Amino acid sequence: MARYLIVGNGVTGMRAAEMLRRRRDDAEITVVTEEAYPFYRRPQLADFASGSVGEARLWGKRKEFYQEQRLDVRLSSRVAGVDVAAQKVTFGDGTTLSYDAMLVATGRRLSAGGLQGGDLAGINCFKTLDEARAIRGLDGAGQTGLVYGNGLVALEMVRALTGAGFKTTYLVPTERLWPEVLDQDAAEIAAARVRASGAELVLGAAVEAVEGRDGRAVGLVLAGGDKVLADVVGVCAEYTPAVDFLPEEGFGFKVDARFATPWQGIYAAGDVTVGSAKNYFNWLRSWRQGAAAGAALAGDAVEGAPRSTCSTCRCWA
Ligand SMILES: Cc1cc2nc3c(=O)[nH]c(=O)nc-3n(C[C@H](O)[C@H](O)[C@H](O)COP(=O)(O)OP(=O)(O)OC[C@H]3O[C@@H](n4cnc5c(N)ncnc54)[C@H](O)[C@@H]3O)c2cc1C
Repeated sequence: MARYLIVGNGVTGMRAAEMLRRRRDDAEITVVTEEAYPFYRRPQLADFASGSVGEARLWGKRKEFYQEQRLDVRLSSRVAGVDVAAQKVTFGDGTTLSYDAMLVATGRRLSAGGLQGGDLAGINCFKTLDEARAIRGLDGAGQTGLVYGNGLVALEMVRALTGAGFKTTYLVPTERLWPEVLDQDAAEIAAARVRASGAELVLGAAVEAVEGRDGRAVGLVLAGGDKVLADVVGVCAEYTPAVDFLPEEGFGFKVDARFATPWQGIYAAGDVTVGSAKNYFNWLRSWRQGAAAGAALAGDAVEGAPRSTCSTCRCWA
């Protein structure tokens, strides 16, 4: 019986598992995630964090889904390494698991990048349910929030904080909002919306470091030394494919039209294949790629797969 391993339980991994099961009734399918939750909808995190929807709206799948689909789901299980020749992964706790085919559906990590102090505790990158919970758990009234970065996730974090009642400052490193995606007119409309939500928007902000106190982030330091302090410090600065367990940097750019990587039995799909070059995330693209990757894992024809990769970073557009 073929042993399939899907690393990642976001929309890509969940959809791949579902499609693989539909095509291979007898397969042994294991789904692992470093997070503690069944599949949830990241695009709903801002509404959840601001308190405008309850937790029930987040769940894309309940635990019963994994039972019904006969998926061996392993929550809070981080893949720490892979022996590509032996086709075996090692988890953070030292245990191992062999596979015949593995799908890497690990998305991208958001981080404070190279900012000095970027590894301090308490920096909220607003990628996960735990980070959204950290905002929802606070009463925003009378508290301050600070967000640094560009793009969808930074904008969503600003929306979460203002919606929850935080007095919010949004520091943007460029002279216009999200220049990779928004033209001048669209950026002005987005900026007007940010201001209308009550946030103070600072364009062209030169942030040099994260300010820490007792090992925790308490604000940001601007060029020239001025400090902006806040109760919640959000930094959405750097996007990196979550492939630290694989042996080679830059893997994120190398999948073929059947989602195969250069390594025997290893496939990849979803946001992880966008790489670091682009500042965007895409739920629908990931959903589609997950379904197509499920077919590829089963060895079936891949319907609707993109025929070519984009010319700049070779991601699938
Ligand atoms: C706040 C927010 C709002 C968004 N809003 C929108 C929107 O409105 N529209 C839109 O198109 N997109 C939106 N997105 C982006 C969208 O959520 C992503 O495009 C989508 O989640 C990508 O799916 P994925 O499965 O490829 O990766 P992810 O959802 O990132 O899932 C990655 C999975 O891999 C797991 N993982 C990572 N590393 C390891 C490891 N070493 N071991 C084990 N497990 C691991 C994670 O725990 C997770 O389960 C938003 C994202 C965020 C954060």
